[in-house]
Amino acid sequence: MPTPFLISASILSSDFSRLGEQIHEAELAGADWIHLDVMDGHFVPNLTLGPVIVEACRKVTQLPLDVHLMVESPENLLAAFANAGSSILSVHVEACPHLHRTIQTIHELGCKAGVVLNPATPVDLIRPILPMVDLVLVLSVNPGYSGQVFLPEVLPKLSDLRRELGKINQPVWLEIDGGINESTLPLAREAGATVFVAANAIFKHPDGIASGIHQLRALLSS
Ligand code: ZN
Repeated sequence: MPTPFLISASILSSDFSRLGEQIHEAELAGADWIHLDVMDGHFVPNLTLGPVIVEACRKVTQLPLDVHLMVESPENLLAAFANAGSSILSVHVEACPHLHRTIQTIHELGCKAGVVLNPATPVDLIRPILPMVDLVLVLSVNPGYSGQVFLPEVLPKLSDLRRELGKINQPVWLEIDGGINESTLPLAREAGATVFVAANAIFKHPDGIASGIHQLRALLSS
């Protein structure tokens, strides 16, 4: 079954004083998901947002909320993020010594479950869990800040995962996150990604949010 290409708009680059309006604008312009980068100041150096912001987003959009947990011990926070209205909860394999159980818990909470690989983490670490997950996220920058430059060395990992996921008899989204813009999106698409997280390319586009989304969409429909 072919998976359609999706754009997940990361609010990390949005104007938080106008968050509701900006999400609304992204939704009207055709964003498929809203991506929330949760950072705890431990697993990654930066500190961003928690369940309260997920709850606020849930009130202003019907779009799936694609929550990327860059936190230590994510299992302690899953219920809070699920109750806040998350649709997808993605955890880092590097932060989950009991990944199988963590993925099970996410499903029990009624969310889709994703697993994330840092740029230096090999595909081998998640191979056994692939039949259990709904999404695999490949980070194409070192996590911590928006606006970083795409690391092309992660592209072979996308291709590997695309091959592995082809052996599984169920659809799994393959998401790329970090430095996605008009130049890097085609490379990630070519390598097999199906979901594209963009932050600056949408929320800091010089011609506005809608132009940012339309430009990325044009590259996915060509
Ligand atoms: Zn992310």
